[in-house]
Formats: sequence, structure tokens, C-alpha cells
Amino acid sequence: MVDWLSHVLLAWIICQILSVKYKFFGGRHTAIVMVGALIPDIIKVGLLFRWLDIDIWDFIVPLHTPVGAVISAAVIALFFEEQMNAFKLLVFGMATHFLFDLPLAHVSGGMLMLFPFHWGRYQVYLIPTDDCIVPILASVVAIVIYIVKSRVTAKNQVGS
Ligand SMILES: [Zn+2]
Repeated sequence: MVDWLSHVLLAWIICQILSVKYKFFGGRHTAIVMVGALIPDIIKVGLLFRWLDIDIWDFIVPLHTPVGAVISAAVIALFFEEQMNAFKLLVFGMATHFLFDLPLAHVSGGMLMLFPFHWGRYQVYLIPTDDCIVPILASVVAIVIYIVKSRVTAKNQVGS
């Protein structure tokens, strides 16, 4: 089950690994990537409307497609001072979202990856959506990275 916690953790893990070589992904930029990783799931507001007995799924379904998410990222990036950097980071986060959603066995039959050009639904069908191995694994890896990183930082501070 790649839930919000997993998406945020996986984005953080990827940024921590990349920031070793590319400083661009470190610090405050990591937080923007983590926000980007949740953009496609803005679609979940549909659950609130369903609870209110209003059916808006057909209108918001493009939000959970790469094209829809890039447009959402562009709109959100407008609220940042460095809009282009924010946009790049949000799109990167969004890409991690689809990367980790793809191996899921979706109940809906997959994701509209080529919307609006093609209505085919795609999925790799590896992990059942009710499997909690992903959040557990992501949490363990994140904790290990966090511990290693704080040890390295502490060692560097002693050394300097
Ligand atoms: Zn998703």
C-alpha cells in the first residue's frame, strides 16, 4: 500500500541519496519534492465529496495523471519566489509518486498514464493495494538514512 506516508518517505529517501552528489535536492528543496510527491493524490478530495454524496470523480480524474499533475505543479509553483526551481522540484516529486504507484495492483484497473492522448490504464500489478510492506520498508530505510546522516554530520562537526 503506497499511502501518503510512503510517498513522502520515499521522496525524502531519494532526495537524501541524490543530495550526496547534487546539493540541489538537499535542505529546503527536499520539502518541496515531498509536497510534489503528494500532488497526484489531490484527487483524494473526491472522497470528501463522495461522503457529501456529490460525484465529482469524472471531473478530477485527470489530477492523478502525469499531464494533470504537471499542470497542478505549475499552479502551485506560482506561489513560490523561485518559481522555476519550485516547479522542477514539484515535478520531480510528482514523478516519484507515479514511479511508486505503478507497481500497485489498482482496484480501478491502473492509471491513465497517457491521458489525454490515450485512455489506456497502466499498472505493473506487483504489490496489492492492501499490502503494508511498502510503508514498513520505507520507514526502516528512512530511519537508517537519518541515523547514518546524523552520525556523519556529527563526525564532520568534530573534525572541523
Ligand atoms: Zn497515487
